[in-house]
Amino acid sequence: MKDWSTGTGRLPRAAVSEPPLAHTHSTRTACAVPGTPLDLAKAGIDACVHCGFCLQACPTYLALADENDSPRGRILLMRAVVEGSLPPDDPSVREHIDRCLGCRGCETACPSGVPYGHLLEATRATIAGRHPLVARLVLAVFRREWALRPALAGAKLLRATRIPALLGRLPGKLGFAMAMLAATRGAVRRPRYEPRGSGARGSAAILRGCVMEGLFEETNRATERVLAANDWRMTDAPGQRCCGALHAHAGDLESARALARANVDAFANSGAETIAVNAAGCGAMMKEYGQLLADDPEYAERAAAVSARVRDVSEMLAVAGPATGGRLPLTVTYDAPCHLQHAQRVVAPPLAVLKSIPGMTLVPLVESDQCCGAAGIYNLVEPEVSSAVLEPKLAHIARTGASLVATGNPGCLMQIGAGLARARSATRTVHPIDLLDASYAASKGPTKEPG
Ligand code: SF4
Ligand code: SF4
Repeated sequence: MKDWSTGTGRLPRAAVSEPPLAHTHSTRTACAVPGTPLDLAKAGIDACVHCGFCLQACPTYLALADENDSPRGRILLMRAVVEGSLPPDDPSVREHIDRCLGCRGCETACPSGVPYGHLLEATRATIAGRHPLVARLVLAVFRREWALRPALAGAKLLRATRIPALLGRLPGKLGFAMAMLAATRGAVRRPRYEPRGSGARGSAAILRGCVMEGLFEETNRATERVLAANDWRMTDAPGQRCCGALHAHAGDLESARALARANVDAFANSGAETIAVNAAGCGAMMKEYGQLLADDPEYAERAAAVSARVRDVSEMLAVAGPATGGRLPLTVTYDAPCHLQHAQRVVAPPLAVLKSIPGMTLVPLVESDQCCGAAGIYNLVEPEVSSAVLEPKLAHIARTGASLVATGNPGCLMQIGAGLARARSATRTVHPIDLLDASYAASKGPTKEPG
C-alpha cells in the first residue's frame, strides 16, 4: 500500500498540499466551477474529514494500492476542482474519477455520512472530456427505445446460437463480452405453475427494466409469479423505460432525468401501491428519483412519491416471510450487489428469501459485500481494473464449493457468470427470485399461507 501522507506521485501536488485535517472551509475561495453539479454538491465534499475509514472498503484502492484511486483521494481531487487548483479537464482527475466503480462501499464505511455516490455523479457531470466510444454507444442505445429493443433482441438471438459460449473463451474485451452474454442463459429450469395468492397485500407493478426484460425475462416472469403467490395483486405500468442508472453514473444527468420523468409518469399513472424492482442498480436509481428531479417544479413532488413506493423484491418478500415452497437440494452462496447492500442498505432480506427455501444449503461467501467489478459498463471501459476486482471474488466463490452464486442484479449476474465460465468453473450465477420460483414450482405453488 502506498503512503497517503507522502502521496503516490500520481495525485496532483495541489490536491495533497494541505494536510487532510487542516481544511478550514470558511476561508475557502469562491468556487472555481460555479453553477456546475459539483458546485451544488460541494457540501458533501466538506463533510469528508479525511479519516480514511473508507480505504479498506474501496475495491479500486485494494486492487491498485493508489491513494488517488481511493474515496479519500478522489474527494481531494473533487475539492481541487472546486477550489480551482486543478482544472476540470485535468487528465489525472478524469483518470481517477473514471476508475471509480461507483459501488458506494465507501458510503457504508464512512462515519461522517459523505454522500459519495452523489459526489461522483456530480463530478462526472462537471468534468470535461468524452467517454470512450463503447461507453458513448451503450449510453446512446439505452437512451433510445427504438434502438434498445432491436439491440437486445439481437443479443438474445445471438445467445441462442451458442456462439457467445464459444467466443467467451477468447481473451480480451470481445471474449469477456461474449461470456457475459452467455451468462444470461437461465441456470435454473422449472415447470410453470399458477400462483395462488389472495392479492391482500395490495397492488404492485414491476419495473421490467431494459436488460432484465431483454435478457432475463424469465426472472421478470418469476418475480411476478412469486409476488402473486405471496398475495400481491400484480398490475402493469405501461410506458416505463430504462431506469437511467447507467446515464446517471456516467454523469449524463440530463438523459437520466428524461428517463426518470417517463418512469414517474408510467408508475404514477399505473396506480400501483408498490413498485417492485429485481435489479439492485435500477432500484437504487428509482429510490433516488426524488433527488434527481428535486429542481424540476413539474416533477419534484411526483418523483419523490414514486421513489417512496419503490422496494426491492426481496424487501417485499421478507416483510412477513416468504411463503414456503418445495425442496431444492442445492448448495448456494450469496453475493450482495453493491447497489442493494451499500446504496439501498438492503442487507438481510435477500438472505431471508434464500433461507426460506427448504432443502437448500446456503454457504457464506467471504467479502460478499465487496464489488465484483461489473458496475454498469465499467467492465467494458476499464477491463483491467474490473478484472483485478473480480479475481478475489472468484477465488472466494471457488472456496465455498457452491454450485450456484445467487445475486440480485443483472450486471453482477453477467460479470460473475462470465468470470466463472472463463475460469472453467461449473458454478453458475442465478437470481435469488429464480430459486424461490423454482422452489414454488417444485411444490406447484407455496405450500402454506404467508404469515
Ligand atoms: S470515511 Fe468518509 S470522512 Fe473518512 S475519508 Fe472516507 S469519505 Fe472521508
Ligand atoms: S464508489 Fe467504490 S470504487 Fe468508488 S471510491 Fe467508493 S468504494 Fe471506491
